[in-house]
Order: sequence, then C-alpha cells, then structure tokens
Amino acid sequence: MASSPHIRYGSLDGLRLSTGFARLPAAFHTRLPPTPLPEPYLVAGSVDAAALLGLDPALIDHPDFPALFAGNRLPEGAEPLAAVYSGHQFGVWAGQLGDGRAHLLGELDGADGPWEIQLKGAGPTPYSRFADGRAVLRSSIREFLASEAMAALGVPTTRALCVVGSDTPVQRETQETAAVVTRLAPSFVRFGSFEHWHAHDRTDELRILADHVIDRCRPALREAAQPYAALLRDVAQRTGELMAHWQAVGFMHGVMNTDNMSILGLTLDYGPFGFMEAFDAGHICNHSDHTGRYQYRAQPRVAYWNLYVLGDALSALIGRPEEVKTIIDEAFPAAFEARFLQLMRAKLGLATARADDTELINALFGLLQAGRTDYPAFFRGLSQLPGTVETAARRRIDAPVRDLFADRPGCDAFLTRWRARLAAEGSVDAERQAAMRAVNPKYVLRNWVAEAAIRQAREGDFGGVAEVLTCLRRPFDEHPQLAHYAAPPPDWATGLTVSCSS
Ligand code: AMP
Ligand code: MG
Repeated sequence: MASSPHIRYGSLDGLRLSTGFARLPAAFHTRLPPTPLPEPYLVAGSVDAAALLGLDPALIDHPDFPALFAGNRLPEGAEPLAAVYSGHQFGVWAGQLGDGRAHLLGELDGADGPWEIQLKGAGPTPYSRFADGRAVLRSSIREFLASEAMAALGVPTTRALCVVGSDTPVQRETQETAAVVTRLAPSFVRFGSFEHWHAHDRTDELRILADHVIDRCRPALREAAQPYAALLRDVAQRTGELMAHWQAVGFMHGVMNTDNMSILGLTLDYGPFGFMEAFDAGHICNHSDHTGRYQYRAQPRVAYWNLYVLGDALSALIGRPEEVKTIIDEAFPAAFEARFLQLMRAKLGLATARADDTELINALFGLLQAGRTDYPAFFRGLSQLPGTVETAARRRIDAPVRDLFADRPGCDAFLTRWRARLAAEGSVDAERQAAMRAVNPKYVLRNWVAEAAIRQAREGDFGGVAEVLTCLRRPFDEHPQLAHYAAPPPDWATGLTVSCSS
C-alpha cells in the first residue's frame, strides 16, 4: 500500500495517535468521547490535508473512514477531550466558553511537527451551554472548502481533512442535517485560552499554557531572554501578517472574537465568513453583526484590539504593562504594513518597491470602492493585460478590465498610471503576467459557489463540493471545464446572507 515515501499510514487500522494537549493538567480540558453520528457517510475529503498527515489518500474512500471521522470509532491512542477557554465576544467579556462542539482526538506527526486532529460537531460537551454540540452540513461544507482554499492561497489557516454527514436532523432557523468536519492544526489554542486563566488570576496555569505553546509550536522562542515576551511579539507579528493576507485576498472572518483568534496566527473557526466579491470596504459578511464591528475595513484594527486583550492576559508573565503595549505596538502595525504592501505589489505585478506605491494602491482601492468592482475578477483580469498598448487598440485590449467599471475614464487613468509604474521598472510582460497569475486567484469561495454546492449536497449529490474543491485547491490554474465557478453571482444568488447560526 505504501506506494510513496510520504505515505506513513496505508491503513486506517494502522493509525496511532499521540497526545500533547491532553497531557496538560486536568483543569485545561474535560475528557469525553464524541457522541456517535448515526449512519455517517463521506461528503468530501481533502487529499492535500491527508498528505499532511501521511495518510494514503485512497483511505478517504475506505468504508471505515466515515465512522472514524464522525467519532463513532476512535483510532488507537486517541484521548478525546474538549478544551476550556474564555473570550471577548463583540468587544464584551463573555466569560467561560470552551469547545462546545469540538473534540480533540490527539495528534499525528507531519513533516513539520504534530498535527492535532479535532472533530467539530461530534456532540455536546460541558462547554456547550444550551446548544446541541452539532454542526450542520451547510456550515461544515463551508468550513471545509474555505480552510483548503485559504491554504492554497497561501494564507495561514487551520486545515480540514473531511466532512462526514448524516441524515440526523439538527434544528437551526430551519431543520437541517448534521455533519462533522475534521480540522487539523499544530494547536487550537486561542487568545481566549490565555484570557481564561488571567480572569481567574491563575498565573501557574497561564505559565503552563504559554510553555506548552512555546515548547510544542515555537521552540526557538525558548532561547529568547524573555520567552513570554517573545511569544507575545511572535503572535503580534504573525497576526499582523495574517491581517495583511486577509485584506489582500479579500477574506472576511465575520466573528473576530478573541476566542476565535489563534495563538499561532492561523485563520481559525470559519463561521459566517466571506470572500470579497463586489468591492466594498464596509462590507459586513456576518448577518448577525448589526454594528459592523467586523466589517472588512475594520479587521486589522480589531486584531490590534484583540492583541491588547491577549497582552493584558499575558502581563502577569511578562511583567510591566508598558512593556506589553510596546511589544504589540512595535510588532503588529509594522508586520501588517510590510506584508500588506508586499502582497499588494505582487498582485499588481510590481517587482520592485517605490515610495509612492502606497498612493497607487490607495487610488486603486478608491476606484474599486466607487465601482463596486468584482475584487478577484479585477486582479485576474489585470494579470492578463500587456504593459504597453497602442492608443488605438487600447479600449479593445483593456476591455476585460475596463468593462468591470462604470467609470471607464477612471479605470483608464489607473491603467495609465500602472503602466507607467511597470515601465519604470522595466517589467517584462510574459514574466510579470505569469507572476501575477500565480498570486491573483481565478477561484475564491464565492458565496453563490458555496451555496450551489451545498444545495446539491443536501440532495445527496456531493459532486458539486468535489468540483469546487478541485478549483480551490489549485485556485491559480484555469480549470477551463469548471470556469463557471469563477463567475460573479448569478441572479438567484444576489442577496444571499450568512449568519452565525451554524
Ligand atoms: P463561535 O462563535 O462559533 O466561535 O462559538 C462560540 C462558542 O459557542 C464556542 O464556545 C462554541 O463551541 C460554542 N458553540 C457554537 N455553536 C455551538 C453548538 N451548536 N453546540 C455547542 N456549542 C456551540
Ligand atoms: Mg469559535
């Protein structure tokens, strides 16, 4: 079976999980088995995520696979548990939360260290409060596709191995069916995990948790003069870079509560997220976010605020509050700005850095905002345009980009400026266009695309999910047979909303 050296598990019976988080003291978690999911079936699997674990991708189609990743049958070595954490929700202290519908099974070693394996939607835990511990098919497909899409776009994220469904009914606004999504991450520790111990004035537990994260995921920080200060600096920097990625790719998380912020700077907890389509910096992707706290343009600011909350929680380990503030103020804005500029230059095909690039980028965002221009279509279209163009042929050649704007002269003015900038650095078309196509995706998880695949899946046909995954796992490729998934929303999909209910 083990046909490739990267495949370490050629059979499901051979899986041997080890444990890391489970070794922390009992106060950090509650051990409990998942609740079996009646008659589970495979909805979708990611061969890329399987490869991270060293699983033979053929195992995804094994008849025992759904039962294993529904939590009905545990792999050897699994010690399922739900972790406790707290957090600020919509800016307000929410007290204790915790894994209300997630079971951490244990971990498997990957090439760069262990991957924790977590089942989301596998039944209630002591942290479920009044909820049912389940996830619905709709939100599980969305989390699965988005996780794998973000990874393929080069955005730090938790991963998703599979979605397993069942006909078991689950009540939300309407009756839906249950599913379990298997998530992978080096650690699922959140800002809120630290807030939890800070709120209880438990410095020992705070230190144990920080040591756990450092030793398992950031061992280099152990060498720092002040490892806990170094950890905060590391999180602030990575969170800054993550925000740059989100803004550049047009990803909106929707619920940037501190319990949804990863201590590793990963995109975590996909709920009512969205990818920017018709550009609007004030877009609110979460129907339940009435004040627009988490609108697109606010994301970096919110992350900054969340880092202060984390810094406050870590202050007992770091010492002086001024030092905590200094660390965050030094690390976050600089990391965000540098990475955002780098990503935007790449999207524009600029190989060098010039002082007035920020101005060019701002002018572009103004133009996109005024035109409510389709964000991925604009950059993909721009990737095909030549760097020089005869005046007479200009309208015809620029049409694929120009036609995305009502304000054609505004678009022309931008393209003139962009071409002058390309000329100034001696840009070579073929090279630049290839580089631009490698960073400007043809495919993102548009709301209508997710919705179409979900509607089909509800009828028992998972072909749509598989097709969409084919596009999203190679988002920069053309996939001519599937090109309709790159289109802006059809009429039936205008006004689709996404709520927190998942
Ligand atoms: P979220 O906004 O999805 O990050 O969830 C916030 C909190 O609510 C977390 O503690 C979740 O585990 C919990 N939660 C959300 N949905 C459910 C559910 N259906 N059952 C149990 N707990 C849930
Ligand atoms: Mg959450």
